[in-house]
Amino acid sequence: MAAVVLVSLAAALAPTGSAAAARHTDVIGYSVQHRPLRVAVVGDPSAPRKVLVVGCIHGSERAGLAVTRALRKATPPAGTQFLVVDTVNPDGCRSGTRGNAHGVDLNRNFPWGWRRLGGVFDSGPSPSSEPETRAVEAFVLRERPDVSIWFHQHLNWVDLQRGSDEALMRRYATVAGMRAVRTAVLPGTVARWENHRLSAGSAFFVELPAGRLPAARLSAHVRALLAIAPTDSAVGASGARAPTWRGLGVAGSLPPVLYELPSPVAPWEEGAWRLIDPYGR
Ligand SMILES: [Zn+2]
Repeated sequence: MAAVVLVSLAAALAPTGSAAAARHTDVIGYSVQHRPLRVAVVGDPSAPRKVLVVGCIHGSERAGLAVTRALRKATPPAGTQFLVVDTVNPDGCRSGTRGNAHGVDLNRNFPWGWRRLGGVFDSGPSPSSEPETRAVEAFVLRERPDVSIWFHQHLNWVDLQRGSDEALMRRYATVAGMRAVRTAVLPGTVARWENHRLSAGSAFFVELPAGRLPAARLSAHVRALLAIAPTDSAVGASGARAPTWRGLGVAGSLPPVLYELPSPVAPWEEGAWRLIDPYGR
């Protein structure tokens, strides 16, 4: 609730025209078929805290695109900007395929904990073999987002990631009305790589349910994104030091791995594969 109030306050205090000036797009790279990967900056581009939101990395899981579209109209809390990317897999989104135009699962192609995998989880011939992966790496290392949220389908839970702020992930789940589940560690995922490279940041996956998001669910996700955005008030009145996301969360040991799945689970669902993932460590 406090975040919502602050958002409204920030919107009310914004000088006329600043919202339009604060929104611009940039191209962060190109796909195999030379489609641009675009990022839209929502909020003050000089804001110290950055939240990366990616609507789609698997082209067959596109419900998150509705969230990124809606987020462009949001006003982040003061001190925070949203870096909004509809898709890092425009070729797969166009064709409706999980992988990119090479058939590579981009969420198995990142260079931390990478393993050679084939089939539907094709990791690519080597870490960072795909141009989309390399574009994301360069962008993330340049912008160093404090939080990164990557949308998937169809498991309907917030996928808790090791190395990411647990309280923050659980807060997202609560506001979005979802379960928070800790699953097996997967090879070569973008969140795992981000949490390794940006140890102060938090990257995690939100698994939307199958199908399109109803309007009420869509707004719940926008609220959740706003709710996890820290505000200047978090550091107290002095404001001498920008707050860290870590400081807002709960540090400490993480609970043991939970192998928790909805039932029944279709065998093609990624979560089912996680249960038997031979590389799940
Ligand atoms: Zn996915």
